[in-house]
Amino acid sequence: MVRHCELCKAKRAALVRPRNRQQVCKDCFYTAFEEEIHQTIVDNKLFNRGDRVAVAASGGKDSTVLAHVLTLLNKRHDYGLDLFLLSIDEGIAGYRDDSLETVKRNETQYGIPLEVVSYKTLYNWTMDEIVKEIGLKNNCTFCGVFRRQALDRGAAKMKAVKMATGHNADDVAETILLNIVRGDIARLARCTSIITGEEGALPRCKPFKYTYEKEIVMYAYFKKLDYFSTECTYSPNAYRGFAREFIKDLEAIRPQAILDIISSGERFRIDSTAKMPEQGLCERCGYISSQKWCKACVLLDGLNRGLPKLGITRTRGKGLANGVENASGGGKLASKDDRSPSKANIDF
Ligand code: SF4
Repeated sequence: MVRHCELCKAKRAALVRPRNRQQVCKDCFYTAFEEEIHQTIVDNKLFNRGDRVAVAASGGKDSTVLAHVLTLLNKRHDYGLDLFLLSIDEGIAGYRDDSLETVKRNETQYGIPLEVVSYKTLYNWTMDEIVKEIGLKNNCTFCGVFRRQALDRGAAKMKAVKMATGHNADDVAETILLNIVRGDIARLARCTSIITGEEGALPRCKPFKYTYEKEIVMYAYFKKLDYFSTECTYSPNAYRGFAREFIKDLEAIRPQAILDIISSGERFRIDSTAKMPEQGLCERCGYISSQKWCKACVLLDGLNRGLPKLGITRTRGKGLANGVENASGGGKLASKDDRSPSKANIDF
């Protein structure tokens, strides 16, 4: 029996929406997907007219769909945004060099400029060199701390006033669960925010906060978007991976589970009295930091002195040195297709 789209009632249904199991045709799916993101942007006042916005672009599906949809909505709804793509080259041969080629094609496809910032230029280390030095145990900690700062530096260089990242609803739900499991209430408070960093760093926003990962994949697939889906060479079997699998299991039974976890996290945020440390400036490089030296300078100092574990040494009762977590994940730019922990627990 031919099933018709539940929205237009005319065309043949082509897919079942993971978020609500609604059977829809491709055109209605595109419209619903794009307009839900538009609504998230409007309801949460993510942008102001005239904003120069860095779109964090890894070449993976999330950031590619983000670049595509933001470009489209910017024109359709006349947001008046000045968009550009911002990519980080961590220096991972066979992974980031290939994904950067995708971003370069996206630059042409979407007609927005691209800025690439490399770890080598900023820190004089590539991830390949760091892994040679430290092995595969804490590589994502270094990578995540460096990436976060590299994105801020790249955005500042390009005079952006905001950064948009491709974190989706699944990512937010995973981070909420991980922060609950770790008992990290301060991070729990922050990870549910749709805009972070307003307290000093460049504000980062998540237009996909309520967008299901599966729908992003479907959208990229049906629209035949050009994205990169190879796993990072150094991707560990992360703790985050277990949270991801758990959420997928919940979603299979109850599609609403992802949004329910986010809603629960938001309520924790309201009830939480946990405070984040006060922000100042790193005495060494001037980057925002709650300690004397920022996380990146602590890690770099250890690397440059041939003592790479210095920056990730656990201090009894105080977590890890300078607050640098022994994260099995880093910041957020690498493709999430890679199943890497790239947007892990160093806050979004
Ligand atoms: Fe960096 Fe992600 Fe690769 Fe880890 S998995 S080294 S955070 S790109």
